[in-house]
Amino acid sequence: MSQHQINVVLHPLVQHKLSLMREKDRSTKGFRELLNEIGTLLCYEVTRDLPLTDIEIETPVSKMTGKEIAGKKLVFAPILRAGLSFVEGMIDLVPSARIAHIGLYRDPETFVAVEYFFKAPLNLDERLVIVIDPMLATANTAVAAIDRIKERGARDIRFVCLLASQEGIERLRGAHPDVPIWTAAVDDHLNEHAYIVPGLGDAGDRAYGTK
Ligand code: URA
Repeated sequence: MSQHQINVVLHPLVQHKLSLMREKDRSTKGFRELLNEIGTLLCYEVTRDLPLTDIEIETPVSKMTGKEIAGKKLVFAPILRAGLSFVEGMIDLVPSARIAHIGLYRDPETFVAVEYFFKAPLNLDERLVIVIDPMLATANTAVAAIDRIKERGARDIRFVCLLASQEGIERLRGAHPDVPIWTAAVDDHLNEHAYIVPGLGDAGDRAYGTK
């Protein structure tokens, strides 16, 4: 399965919706709906080259050879909590996908990723695992999540985010060069709190109305 290692999705619908999400006065409801919708659109891109196999089917008119996605059900692995709204839009498109929940938060002082929950389906070595986190900032959480998924045997891994920083991409590529990345945009830099600039703020707080 060949993929470019960094895939910036420039589809006009994605770019338009991303600008709406960035606006600071966007409501919690609006932000969450847009995160969900962009999740669906990015899912379309990240699954674009999945291998197909022939399947014999019967239409109301005749028999024919159709196509179905080959192999075991794929796994979505959202990083809690902002990954949850993002993955909902992906599940809309692939309702039979398995889900691995990865609970990681970044320590506000050190920005180090701290794990508090991990539950994944079996046979990760036989499945494509798509790790999902809206914000790739320092990449500490993404690197830690992929470390854990690999410990559990996964070999075929992709990473999807909404927004990435240049630093985050370099760090993730350095730690896991075998994992291609999909994002809607690559922003300029990180500030002293490790927030993406211009970014969109704290994706979890904005999606769930917390602060
Ligand atoms: N996490 C967020 O939610 N926003 C950022 O800008 C960086 C990390």
